[in-house]
Amino acid sequence: MTDLVLGAAPVADLVSGRGPLRRLAMISLHTSPLDQPGTGDAGGMNVYVTEVARRLAARGIEVDIFTRATDSQLPPLVPVEPGVNVRHIVAGPFEGLAKDELPGQLCVFAREVLRAEAQFDLGHYDVVHSHYWLSGQVGALARDRWGVPLVHSMHTMAKVKNGLLAEGDTPEPQARVIGEEQVVAAADMLIANTAAEAADLVTSYGADPERVEVVHPGVDLDKFRPTSMAAARARLGLRQDAAVLAFVGRIQPLKAPDVLLRAAAELLQREPGLRERLVVAVVGGPSGSGLEHPTALVDLAASLGIADIVRFVPPVRRDELVDWYAAATLVCVPSYNESFGLVAVEAQAVGTPVVAAAVGGLTTAVDDGRSGFLIEGHDPADYARVFASVIASPDLRAALSVGAVGQAAGFSWERTADETLAVYQRAVARMGVEVR
Ligand code: UDP
Repeated sequence: MTDLVLGAAPVADLVSGRGPLRRLAMISLHTSPLDQPGTGDAGGMNVYVTEVARRLAARGIEVDIFTRATDSQLPPLVPVEPGVNVRHIVAGPFEGLAKDELPGQLCVFAREVLRAEAQFDLGHYDVVHSHYWLSGQVGALARDRWGVPLVHSMHTMAKVKNGLLAEGDTPEPQARVIGEEQVVAAADMLIANTAAEAADLVTSYGADPERVEVVHPGVDLDKFRPTSMAAARARLGLRQDAAVLAFVGRIQPLKAPDVLLRAAAELLQREPGLRERLVVAVVGGPSGSGLEHPTALVDLAASLGIADIVRFVPPVRRDELVDWYAAATLVCVPSYNESFGLVAVEAQAVGTPVVAAAVGGLTTAVDDGRSGFLIEGHDPADYARVFASVIASPDLRAALSVGAVGQAAGFSWERTADETLAVYQRAVARMGVEVR
């Protein structure tokens, strides 16, 4: 193993953890880390890629993130901060290409990534880390061409998603299922967000358990920290005695913001006296199949007779998001599926309890009864009951808030980056073993 050299980095050094893993190619084909999360295709994965890249750069690794150019004005290279660059790859039209049309651009995207590496003398990458199956297809090619290991993160999986569809949601196509199976087979190491995702990779996709590592996503604990509710409400123009139920994220059936609206309507039926001070905040923009009916939620609020209490807020940047979390009595995450749920951890880090569906990564993100509540299923009556008890008891809310901060403290991007780095080192080690 000591003789094998990957780029400029001796494998033995990489394996021992002493470094130097110098250069990393991340591939995030379908969504750029420069996009504003909370609408369209930009969400938790964008945050994940950016936060992990920043932490890896702080550990001395140069990270190039390859993404598809979606605007003719985008320069080929955008430095994000020292050690992190976004590289725009021209593959297909800049605008008007839906996510389900991207498989047709995989070949040209992969060719342009390989060409960029060859032509611009970027230097050799030590590891390729791809995000989402489209990027995994490209990463598998780069892996073979560059002779370096491929580490892949699924973020979401078609087979899991199709088993937990919201009503009216479109199933993921078989082409994606096949594409994901190919990536799972090709990757040297797979990173799963949770133990449940790792189990799905093994049982549903036939992944070799030896190649799957669980690394929890994190939260920026400097940015999302306990914040005064009163000050946040004042900044947002909310009355101090309001009962604020918040939803934050991309608006699409999978995320089930309709469950929150229906539960709020049910709550008002049970307790009409709350109407004067109940506020439902929906922070985010349409995404996925939600784009087909962008006014669906506004229409639903009207038909439920609660249009006057629902406040729709277009996607906001982190500082303002902290205020929305802090202003909320509770944050509701009623998704049908969630591979992790960054919103749940961010809200808790700010000190706001989370009421979430007991699905996917949310069962890891939320400590039921201590930092919030996990609810089986999507019956609005169940959510309304929990909302009523938290709103009625400031003591309960205060206790949950303490629990929430404690729960979020278990997650950090520093830890995510360290554990990801360890997976890279294992991937290099595995490759060394296999090459011999
Ligand atoms: N987000 C944001 N502004 C918004 C709404 C959401 O920056 O207005 C971010 C939020 O902070 C979180 C991410 O979008 O980091 C959503 O991640 P999550 O894992 O909750 O859901 P995903 O988008 O991955 O399905």
